[in-house]
Amino acid sequence: MSIFSEVKEHLIARQAAEGYGLPIKRNGMACCPFHDDKHPSMKIDQNYHCFACGVGGDAIDYVSRMFGLTQYEAACKLIEDFSLPVDVKGKACLSIQEKKRIRSEKAERERITHIQKRFEKWCSRTVDTLKDCLAEIENAGVFLTGKPPDFIFSEDYAQMLHAEPLIHYWLDILCIGDVLEKRGLFLKDRKKVEEVAGNICAGRQGIMGCSRGSA
Ligand SMILES: [Zn+2]
Repeated sequence: MSIFSEVKEHLIARQAAEGYGLPIKRNGMACCPFHDDKHPSMKIDQNYHCFACGVGGDAIDYVSRMFGLTQYEAACKLIEDFSLPVDVKGKACLSIQEKKRIRSEKAERERITHIQKRFEKWCSRTVDTLKDCLAEIENAGVFLTGKPPDFIFSEDYAQMLHAEPLIHYWLDILCIGDVLEKRGLFLKDRKKVEEVAGNICAGRQGIMGCSRGSA
């Protein structure tokens, strides 16, 4: 029997998670420690599964994810920390397949972390961009006050006003939305956000530029 199955025989994910300080409700739900979880999204018992970010696995997987260890290291940590009656000696040699699996799991974890980081960066950068857009629209409004109607009814300004509710909608998602909504925006509307922000910038230049020319 491998140390993995022996560890799992002695310990379920819930016990491991609780042992490392995760508060779990009576119904087996907990706030996921692997994403920014405000309401409990993780079901945890024999195994764990997060309904929001999708991670899941057994006790060993939990510990390996939590502490950035290989599956083997995580199993050893559990044996040590929980004083499990599992003899590691003589089982320390991993087969080539196991080593290969551990390596590919690690690579996959790194890939996920990388995407996650890129996503978080994009979110905070986009909040700034969209706030700038709203400021531009407001500035344009102030700038156009008292100007002749053909400035005020210019296509540039109309485009800005048209984009305003959409920008508010995106900002709501990014500032108070849940992870799924943010992820949806990132996956589906990333291009559109850039396009709208670009149009606002061009619109402002158009408005300021054409009035400067006529002044
Ligand atoms: Zn999660």
